[in-house]
Amino acid sequence: MSLPPQLPPLREIIAAHGLSASKALGQNFLFDEHLLDRIARIPGDLAGTKVLEIGPGPGGLTRALLRAGAQVTAIEMDRRCLPALADLAEAFPGQLRVLEGDALKIDHGEAMGGEPFAVVANLPYNVGTALFVRWLSGEQWPPQWTSLTLMFQQEVAQRIVAAPGSSAFGRLAVLAQWRSQARLAMKVHRSAFTPPPKVMSAIVHLTPAAAPEGVRAARLSQLTEAAFGQRRKMLRQSLKGVAGAVEALEALGIDTARRAETLEVADFVALARALG
Ligand code: SAM
Repeated sequence: MSLPPQLPPLREIIAAHGLSASKALGQNFLFDEHLLDRIARIPGDLAGTKVLEIGPGPGGLTRALLRAGAQVTAIEMDRRCLPALADLAEAFPGQLRVLEGDALKIDHGEAMGGEPFAVVANLPYNVGTALFVRWLSGEQWPPQWTSLTLMFQQEVAQRIVAAPGSSAFGRLAVLAQWRSQARLAMKVHRSAFTPPPKVMSAIVHLTPAAAPEGVRAARLSQLTEAAFGQRRKMLRQSLKGVAGAVEALEALGIDTARRAETLEVADFVALARALG
């Protein structure tokens, strides 16, 4: 096996290309190559695997994915990063394709040529959550992505893997768990980033699991939005706006005086199925 190319340290890349971190774009960069290699190992062996990386920035995580042998398509909206990424593409011939644009506006399935792909991303919180909800909301299951490895604020990561009954349990947990396996793969200290963000981060890893029969994702999404939109209220109140939901709860033997966070993921699934 050939050795990976010797690359200049990431700090030099940042300096050479004048990549001062933009707050507006949520830029907090990772420079520690050992940490980046550990992150790239979370999805498993990536040799020859198609990977969609969102927000490569100066390319720290991208290098680690390329070293792991992945075929990377990276979407970055900050044009200032493109020359650094072009250098990286040259160092790993045929392994890296960079698309300039907003990942929220690009059709990922199409960008990946309709083939299966793993997603790896270290994104600003709002973009990450919006993409996460989108990746989990498709009616087609299993989806085109084979795994999601995503950096979030630790508090958001905990909401994704939260167990029913806990204060962190909510819409993100139900969306993440009703037909996927979700786990907290790694905590990342704020000091690992340049500049350091105010809060700690954590990486979650998701893989698709079997989807329960007879449940539409759109229905489940509607129910979780209503139920957790007013999480302090009793279900008979918070689900009033969803036609037939309160009657369906009664038919399922679920006490309508309960609050959303006390339900199991399977209860939401049963409710969505009952409502068709
Ligand atoms: N991956 C690099 C790392 O780990 O060091 C950079 C991470 S930085 C937290 C987030 C990156 O996402 C930035 O490079 C930023 O420009 C990019 N970004 C932010 N919003 C984006 C969007 N909507 N679409 C694509 N990239 C975006």
